[in-house]
Amino acid sequence: MDNCIFCKIISGDIPSHKVYEDDNFLCLLDIMPINPGHTLVIPKSHTENVTTISKENFSELMNTVYDLAPSIKTATGATGLNISSNHGVSAGQEVPHIHIHIIPRHDNEEKVFPTRGKYSPGEAEEILHKIKSCLQKN
Ligand code: 5GP
Ligand code: ZN
Repeated sequence: MDNCIFCKIISGDIPSHKVYEDDNFLCLLDIMPINPGHTLVIPKSHTENVTTISKENFSELMNTVYDLAPSIKTATGATGLNISSNHGVSAGQEVPHIHIHIIPRHDNEEKVFPTRGKYSPGEAEEILHKIKSCLQKN
């Protein structure tokens, strides 16, 4: 896709630090790492997010994450990893080309998560019902 920064990296128009590459995936160091070794696993075929990628390609993407994660942990001396992915602008996705973050984490680091809430009475059942209805349609 023309104005996609990851497509430009994949085509070689923009340089990157490549961790691993095969026919279908490019894994590179994030330019603004949360910690050194923060890696992005990117399918070479442009698609936006989990709602647009095929199930087969998403499985392959996660297989690649699985293959890379232990090496990133060992190489960085991390004691843990965050494996995360943002899907859509409202979820914090800045680059609209699906990718998975592998982020090395260390003991005593601040763990930053959004403040969690509580369900009001009936709210959990309502959302459960909506999700299950959608599952039945698919
Ligand atoms: P998102 O917010 O979409 O989940 O994450 C996009 C990530 O891509 C960010 O962590 C950002 O630092 C990284 N990024 C954006 N532009 C570039 C780039 O040109 N090169 C590399 N290596 N990473 C990039
Ligand atoms: Zn792209």
